[in-house]
Amino acid sequence: MSNKKRVLITGAAGFLGSHLCDRFINEGYHVIGMDNMITGDIKNVEHLFPNKNFEFQEHDVSNFVHVSGELDYILHFASPASPIDYLKIPIQTLKVGSLGTHNLLGLARAKNARILVASTSEVYGDPLVHPQTEEYYGNVNPVGPRGVYDEAKRFQEAITMAYHTYHGLETRIVRIFNTYGPRMRLNDGRVLPAFIGQALRGEDLTVFGDGSQTRSFCYVDDLVEGIYKLLLSDYAQPVNVGNPVEITISDFAEEIIKLTGTDQKVIYKELPADDPKQRQPDISKAKNLLDWTPKVSREEGLKITYEYFKSLSKEDLYAKEHNSFEEYIKK
Ligand code: UDP
Repeated sequence: MSNKKRVLITGAAGFLGSHLCDRFINEGYHVIGMDNMITGDIKNVEHLFPNKNFEFQEHDVSNFVHVSGELDYILHFASPASPIDYLKIPIQTLKVGSLGTHNLLGLARAKNARILVASTSEVYGDPLVHPQTEEYYGNVNPVGPRGVYDEAKRFQEAITMAYHTYHGLETRIVRIFNTYGPRMRLNDGRVLPAFIGQALRGEDLTVFGDGSQTRSFCYVDDLVEGIYKLLLSDYAQPVNVGNPVEITISDFAEEIIKLTGTDQKVIYKELPADDPKQRQPDISKAKNLLDWTPKVSREEGLKITYEYFKSLSKEDLYAKEHNSFEEYIKK
C-alpha cells in the first residue's frame, strides 16, 4: 500500500465535495469519495476516475459507513444545501446532518482519524447580530422550512463537540457562508444559478421580496483554501469561512444582468418564509488563526462561473431537475 495520506470526503459528487476531492488529489492524498447521488452529479468527479489515487463509493452515510484500510482525515460534506432541497427532502436533510454525522464520528474514532464537518451560516438563522461572529448563538425557527437544515447542522456541531470533549476526538467545524462557482446545480433554487439560468434561457430574473436582503458570496477556491487550512490547524471550535463583501439581492441581479448581457428585466416574487434579511461573516478568527482571507473578487469569480454555466448542454439548461434527484423524489 502507498504511504499517501488517506482522506474520506462525503458529498464528493456535490458542488463543494467535488472541489475538495480535486484539492486533496492535487495535494497528493489518496481520496475516497462517497455520495448517495441524490443531489450529487457524477459529472463533477468523472475526471478523477482514471486517477489511481481516487476511489468512489455510492453510499448513503445516514446508514452505517464502512471504509476498509486506514483513514487520516474525514470531511463530512454530504447534505442537501438549498432551501428548495430542504422542502423536497426534509427527512433526508435531517438524517444526514444527525445520523450521518454520528456514523462518521464513529468511523473517525475507529480509524483514529481527524474529522472536519461542514456547518453553515444557517446556524445563525435570521441573525440579529451583524456581521455574524462565531460567538453569536443565532435566531433559528426550528419548525420553519429551513429548520430541518438549520437544526440538523446545529445538532451536528453539538455532537461533533461532544465527541471532541468526551472521546478526545480530533474535530474541526467550518461554518460556511454562501459560496459559488462551477459545478453548482443549475436548478437547486439558489440565487446565483437561478439568475444565470434565467438569463441564459431568456427569462426574467426573479428577485424574492423587495431585494433588500443581503448575502456575501465567496468563490469556491477561496472556501476550499480556508477549509484546507482549518483541517490542518489545531482549532476545534467553529470557524466562519466566507467572503465578507456584502451585496443586496437586487444589486446582485443587476450584476448578473450586466455580466450576461441579457435584455430581460427583474421581476419581484414573494419572499420565502424565514429568509434571512442580512448575512455577512465576521472572518477575524479565520484571519488570525489560519492566516486566511478570500482572494477572488466577485467580478472575477462570476466570470469563471458564467463560463461554466454557458458550457452546459441545452438539455441541462432546460431540465427541471437533476435526473437522480427527480428519480429519488418519485420513490
Ligand atoms: N433569491 C431570489 N431569487 C431566486 C432565488 C433566491 O431573490 O430566484 C433570494 C433568496 O430569497 C435569498 C437570497 O436570494 O434571499 C439567497 O438565496 P439562496 O437560496 O441562494 O441562499 P440562502 O437564502 O440560503 O442564503
